Amino acid sequence: MRPTATKQKADAANFVEVALPVPLKRLFTYSVPEGTTARPELGQRVRVPFGKRRLIGFVAAVHSELPADLDVDVKKLRPIIEFLDDEPLITPEILRLTEWTADYYASFWGEMLKAALPAGMNSEKVRPKRRKAVRLLDNADADHTKALTKAQTTILETLAAEGGEMLWTDLLDSAKAGASPVNTLVKRGFLEIFIQDIHRDPFSAEKFPKRPQMTLTEHQASVLAQITDAIDGSEFKAFLLHGVTGSGKTEVYFRSIKHTIAMGRSALMLVPEIALTPVFSRQMRAAFGSTVAILHSGLSPGERFDEWRRIRDGEARVAIGTRSAVFAPLENIGLIIVDEEHDSSYRQRESPFYNARDVAVVRASFAGAVAVLGSATPAMESFYNARHGKYTLLSMPERIGGRNLASAELVDMREVFKRAGKDVALSSELLDAIGETAARGEKIIVLMNRRGFSQFVLCRTCGETIKCENCDITLTFHRREGRLTCHYCGFGMPAPHACPKCASEFLYFVGEGTENIADQLEKKFPKLKIERIDRDSITRKGELEQKLLDFAEGRIDMLVGTQMIAKGHDFPDVTLVGVVGVDIGLGLPDLRSAERTFQMITQVAGRSGRGEKPGRVIIQTYHPDHYALQRSMAQDYEGFYADELKYRENFRYPPFVALASIMVRHRELSRARSIANAVRRFLDAANPEKTVRIVGPASASIARLKNEYRMQLILRSVSRKELRKVLDIALAEAEANGVEMRSVYVEIDPVSLM
Ligand code: ADP
Ligand code: ZN
Ligand code: ZN
Repeated sequence: MRPTATKQKADAANFVEVALPVPLKRLFTYSVPEGTTARPELGQRVRVPFGKRRLIGFVAAVHSELPADLDVDVKKLRPIIEFLDDEPLITPEILRLTEWTADYYASFWGEMLKAALPAGMNSEKVRPKRRKAVRLLDNADADHTKALTKAQTTILETLAAEGGEMLWTDLLDSAKAGASPVNTLVKRGFLEIFIQDIHRDPFSAEKFPKRPQMTLTEHQASVLAQITDAIDGSEFKAFLLHGVTGSGKTEVYFRSIKHTIAMGRSALMLVPEIALTPVFSRQMRAAFGSTVAILHSGLSPGERFDEWRRIRDGEARVAIGTRSAVFAPLENIGLIIVDEEHDSSYRQRESPFYNARDVAVVRASFAGAVAVLGSATPAMESFYNARHGKYTLLSMPERIGGRNLASAELVDMREVFKRAGKDVALSSELLDAIGETAARGEKIIVLMNRRGFSQFVLCRTCGETIKCENCDITLTFHRREGRLTCHYCGFGMPAPHACPKCASEFLYFVGEGTENIADQLEKKFPKLKIERIDRDSITRKGELEQKLLDFAEGRIDMLVGTQMIAKGHDFPDVTLVGVVGVDIGLGLPDLRSAERTFQMITQVAGRSGRGEKPGRVIIQTYHPDHYALQRSMAQDYEGFYADELKYRENFRYPPFVALASIMVRHRELSRARSIANAVRRFLDAANPEKTVRIVGPASASIARLKNEYRMQLILRSVSRKELRKVLDIALAEAEANGVEMRSVYVEIDPVSLM
């Protein structure tokens, strides 16, 4: 019997609510056009009209009839224009996770969903890659009435030799045949043509080195046992794995993932953006084959799309990736690892702001999975959480093979200045050490955390510095290109020969960058093969990987670079690390500058002495007494933690308070000011008991960026709940009263206040 009309109607999906990437805290309702064959599903991407625009959004709810609480007029509903995916790219679990994340970060669901998909998948309609292919039929009826021609025989033999299936073009190539004999064979029933999905494999044509077999140390075995026990328990548990550099964390990750897979569950591993260890992902591939998918920004959109689909389809059960991979559509997830959990690349620094490390823990808690946050230098908040029982602390305090951590020395640059009678970038202490190390045939890393040749250009006659057109930032001199560029917006101009203001020719280039340091070292050590690694010198895809590989295999003697060289890499022959210009980071007026400096030095020092030979670290500084330097020299994490905690308590910073930053950005300074003042008024009105301390509005430390003026308000409260209540009421009131909310950017738990 056919179903009745009413029944049919009740089952049908007639209306959908769509999350759109717009700064509005609501869903939008659309009708499903009559006669569509596609059935809307949760998480599916749809193209819809929005005012005069068309936007891509995600189906967040499906209804057969309009729910009464939705205050919409059926007659005014507009239909969906197009369904973009045959199957949703987002699973119900990710739908819920993004909703939670958007809410926690006072952001918007549609924007969070858009950020959840790997970059490139939103902007255009990335499609599966499909190619025409030919299959040999096992078909005794086939038309044998005429004898096969020579070409036809070759085609059948070629196919048989290749296992019976080939891409159309490959077949024509290999059999050196034209299309017509193939088509004849199809007509005669020997072959059939079909459409094959091509997997755009980011690993294709690569060799997969096997991960070496090792016997776990006692520390590793004990840590692993705790993790695998928790996985077997199938309940949420969060660990902080604090293991010094070289303590063998990677092997623990590897075996934990293996265990998870063996239990029939899936595993996610997040890695920092620039340290995405190519060796490790290949070893994973060698061990687990196509079960492993990889997601990072170096992939083409097509590769990313295919990796994502392989995860969603359950073909890949291990995903390794950078920040947004925290939203990878793995089902039945048992383990989430966040490697180098302190790393700032987990924080999305633009709207929607979120920290993938924290989202990872929440995802694990929703899924009854185990989260492992690993680091040699855990973030203050993470260690605080471990101390206060929110995470279980696991420690690996020793390097593998009982190797000592490198011994560290500070060079007081004030003394160096006195001795030389002028500013020098490289002390004789460091230069001598480089000479000795190189003479022994050992390798050297020099860390300089600033790109370019000189930090800025100063006119000695009138005191003018040359600034960016769009930002309140001095331009950096890049000598090789002969240009001044802005490191914030990319603006550039040819380097001038005279001051643009007073025409004086006495221009002074101040403050070294990597390019300058590398030049000086090349002059001092002409026989050494020296390579620079920073964002300027690494432009082509794969170039970073190649340089790191060349260094690891001894074809390069010295690397000079920014923090790109500081972390994660395992170079056994490096016995000297020099840190130049550490004061740049320490001097930044930011709540985390000490923490970041400590982390960076500890990490880069961890690159020294990983092999048989002992390592040395030399740090040049004008602030030799700073606790971040003293503690990192001693590789004393807990000491640093105690010092830094006192500082955070004194200045009322996290983890003692919840923090939020509101940045108002506008092209006109007066508008930025008046919007910020209005926001402040609504905040005060929502905060009668003053449970939230509000500072500002004041000009942000970068007062103008990318052509926009920036006014900042900072909110802190001992109660996160109060902070959110005040913020939510104030923002809602501001919006209701016509404040231009497009210019207001709210950041919850900001990593930086700059
Ligand atoms: P971390 O990530 O903690 O800095 P790694 O995982 O890179 O340390 O380990 C440091 C080195 O020790 C690597 O070369 C690794 O292959 C090796 N290693 C790890 N575990 C063992 C083990 N149990 N036995 C021998 N070598 C090991
Ligand atoms: Zn001048
Ligand atoms: Zn700029």
